[in-house]
Amino acid sequence: MNLSFWEHKTWLSNIDFAVIGSGIVGLNCALSLRKKHPKSKIVVFERGMLPSGASTKNAGFACFGSISEILDDLKNHSEEEVIQLVKNRVEGLKLLRNTLGDQQLDYKEYGGYELFTKEDAALFETCKSKISFINELLKPIFKAEVFSEKENHFGFKNIQQKLIYSRFEGQIDTGKMMLGLIQKTSKENILIMNSSEITNISDDGNSVLLQLNSSETLRQAQCDISVKKVFIATNGFAKQFLDEDVKPARAQVLVTKPIENLQIRGTFHLDKGYYYFRNIENRILFGGGRNLNFKTEETTEMELTQLVQNKLEELLKTVILPNQSFEIDQRWSGIMGMGNQKKPILKTVSKNIFCGVRLGGMGVAIGSSIGKQLAALYD
Ligand SMILES: Cc1cc2nc3c(=O)[nH]c(=O)nc-3n(C[C@H](O)[C@H](O)[C@H](O)COP(=O)(O)OP(=O)(O)OC[C@H]3O[C@@H](n4cnc5c(N)ncnc54)[C@H](O)[C@@H]3O)c2cc1C
Repeated sequence: MNLSFWEHKTWLSNIDFAVIGSGIVGLNCALSLRKKHPKSKIVVFERGMLPSGASTKNAGFACFGSISEILDDLKNHSEEEVIQLVKNRVEGLKLLRNTLGDQQLDYKEYGGYELFTKEDAALFETCKSKISFINELLKPIFKAEVFSEKENHFGFKNIQQKLIYSRFEGQIDTGKMMLGLIQKTSKENILIMNSSEITNISDDGNSVLLQLNSSETLRQAQCDISVKKVFIATNGFAKQFLDEDVKPARAQVLVTKPIENLQIRGTFHLDKGYYYFRNIENRILFGGGRNLNFKTEETTEMELTQLVQNKLEELLKTVILPNQSFEIDQRWSGIMGMGNQKKPILKTVSKNIFCGVRLGGMGVAIGSSIGKQLAALYD
């Protein structure tokens, strides 16, 4: 790469901490490193023009688990483990709100609702019957009743008559969250290098050699950079560097054009959480459908499929907005990192390399604290 003396000296030499990936985890990791190491040189390498995984693509649910999800978790985890999972999410959300403030996040605690399809009558009955048990289980965290039954005041069709309401669930503006984090890192003298993909990492025990591949049209070339410590925060793309149980999981989303007199306000989970929707201003943002073909969605390609997009539109027409006409404004997809377990992978990979990946569908809630814990792996 034809770098000038100045470019090399200012951006690419004497790096104490290199963070790979500028999503929620990478940026929080960088901010946390800055707190402990005020004089260090911290550089975040991001292969996209913007963060290009899940953090700028998500639905902005500030949630900690719907009732069916918590009951499902109880099948594979002990009660103590489930309480801890929920606690981590609640504390992670507090950390996010403290880091950026509710105004920057546009945080609104409108509450969340779970809808049950016509076919899910048995699940609905089970969830209803377990409300007081789960509320009791979560009392130590919330000090109040979390879940209750609610009438369907929204005009949803083709679902079970009642909804299960979760009063502490909120929503954020995902774009504002990421903009806030990027601005904060810049204020903290952390450099973010966009269009900069790391293609290889090797630790010789004293330092780490990074191979940088710049995809910027004017500078398509590679160079090697030597850094002291590396923090991998590439989530769904982590297989590139790590031999761990983490797979990409694509999630597709759409948003409608503004809808007059939209009465829907809140975050909504449908079909065991495989679908999710919310209002954003007077639009509906709707995503999900990975379960229609898990294998196809196990990809890092940010494409859309007819199968999923058609299903999203069908559910909008038949369940969510049955009495209103609407138009789709935009569609996109993002890549999550999933594995057989829900817990993220936080570990020391080698003497100078650390990783914090596999955030699943809860990165808004846990991303800030996983970033902080990733930084703390080096102390
Ligand atoms: C459509 C969708 C909806 C979601 N909805 C919600 C929700 O409502 N609530 C919630 O809590 N969670 C939600 N999630 C999950 C949440 O967004 C993620 O868990 C979270 O953003 C993960 O953050 P991260 O920093 O670990 O990963 P990412 O945001 O994916 O960041 C990883 C970054 O690494 C970069 N990168 C990868 N490889 C390299 C490389 N070799 N060199 C340099 N850079 C690289 C990528 O470009 C990317 O920017 C959703 C996810 C999606 C996709």
